[in-house]
Amino acid sequence: MHREGIDDNNVLPEDILCDFCGKAAWANDVACIEGHQGSIVCGNCLSVAYSELVLAGAGAPTEEKCRMCLEHREEPVWQGAIDPIASICRRCTKQSSAALNKSKKWDWSKPIES
Ligand SMILES: [Zn+2]
Ligand SMILES: [Zn+2]
Repeated sequence: MHREGIDDNNVLPEDILCDFCGKAAWANDVACIEGHQGSIVCGNCLSVAYSELVLAGAGAPTEEKCRMCLEHREEPVWQGAIDPIASICRRCTKQSSAALNKSKKWDWSKPIES
């Protein structure tokens, strides 16, 4: 998400906040990836979501729409820690992880099974 009251024509790294933990990921050199309508998930949250949803097969479906793709799917989601609670679906978790993993801009790798 974008910090409230920012200048849309001059968005600064510190204005870009993760929808799931509320931290300014980009400004702190943490990988982040954008979903629909300016939603953001940072690499830290994505690592946790990937570990839980993909590696551990955990998580439960909700009635909530996924914050990243804005769709409701009958599949487990991972939820963030800040209000309003944001959900990310397993599909977006996988797609975002694959994209960040390949990104040359960020040094982020997918969590691996321990
Ligand atoms: Zn985050
Ligand atoms: Zn999604």
